[in-house]
Amino acid sequence: MDKTINSSLRSWLPVEKGSDFPIQNIPFGIFRTGVNSPHAATRIGNTVIDLFALAEHGFLEGLGINPGIFNFKYLNPLFELGKQSCRALRKQLVLIFEDQNTAARDRIMSENDILFDEPAVHMLLPVKAGDYTDFYSSLEHATNVGIMFRDPAHALLPNWKHLPVGYHGRSSSIVVSGTSIHRPKGQIKPADSEMPVFSPSRELDFELEIAFITGKKTALGSSVSTADAEDHIIGMLLFNDLSARDIQRWEYVPLGPFLSKNFGSLVSPWVVTLDALEPFRIPGPVQEPEVLPYLKFKGDHNFDIHLDVFIQPEGQHETRVCHSNYKFMYWNMAQQLAHQTVNGCNINVGDLYASGTVSGPTPDAFGSMLEIAWKGTKPVKMPDGTERSFINDHDTIIMRGYCEKPGLRVGFGEVVTKIMPAV
Ligand code: CA
Repeated sequence: MDKTINSSLRSWLPVEKGSDFPIQNIPFGIFRTGVNSPHAATRIGNTVIDLFALAEHGFLEGLGINPGIFNFKYLNPLFELGKQSCRALRKQLVLIFEDQNTAARDRIMSENDILFDEPAVHMLLPVKAGDYTDFYSSLEHATNVGIMFRDPAHALLPNWKHLPVGYHGRSSSIVVSGTSIHRPKGQIKPADSEMPVFSPSRELDFELEIAFITGKKTALGSSVSTADAEDHIIGMLLFNDLSARDIQRWEYVPLGPFLSKNFGSLVSPWVVTLDALEPFRIPGPVQEPEVLPYLKFKGDHNFDIHLDVFIQPEGQHETRVCHSNYKFMYWNMAQQLAHQTVNGCNINVGDLYASGTVSGPTPDAFGSMLEIAWKGTKPVKMPDGTERSFINDHDTIIMRGYCEKPGLRVGFGEVVTKIMPAV
């Protein structure tokens, strides 16, 4: 078994009970302080560890990694080294920070440029995604949306159980947690109107998703099999795919979402590696009817990741509106990547592939306000007595995700999105 995920490991850095970032996690992110340029980092507990400084002080020698890789504003060059190098780096970081290594502790504590308190630093967008795909892989979400947008009798379109439906999204508007987003304006067609109107969206929504990042490119014309797919996947992060339902409803026929989805999609700042998620691998739902040969797979490719969404109106406490789990996804990452490339489409390092809204089978596990409030018919009460069918101006949406089993918790932290009025 991989020693880095052994639940008995402890770090000499403090880790609070219930932290998403024990020494078994070792995620990767990009941060800056008030004085430094952006550097690559990892995190243990609430301590952000500057990987560039660590390398400059000689702690990462022997890995064959040029320290300059960590002195860059995105993780792409690190991931480009490949999964084996990232794995070796994680192992080295565990060796440095495990509790027996008092020599490393004493040396690191004597420097003032390696360890930072998490609240005192700015986390930046971790990867530059050249391309972004948004899948639609939750059976429950696709069924719910089909019932509401189309026809309850034919909620699921005929292709849905045969291929992981997706579309190519826009990467320029993918931003890091904490970025405020203005309510988008666009064409909407009110039910009681013959003609469309131009207006701020009246149905601004979130979509609870998890995205994976590719760490290995392919050549145009080649395909990735389900067996090889995870060699290309470096890790995952939380993804809030903001959606304007009223704009979407009017524009999406026949080519799918366009301006209803590209005004801001937010990612959590830490890329959690598949290696760290290994203890939480589980089987996915049974796929019936049988899929075509290129979508068949061996082994377990789903992950047991608890996902929560909270709405925090300004000046109030947060209210949980959803508790879902990534394990419900019908199509897994290996199948998504195999499908993405089956026609010869090439992929690049840093590309981002979002799961689609992660809805579970029960109403409390629905991953969007469209479903939670069921098109406005079941609004959710906030602490001040106001109701939400969608997101109001000045509301903050908080998504959290974590895996947990006895003695081990590995999490993603959070992705926070504040909605500002239309401009
Ligand atoms: Ca989506």
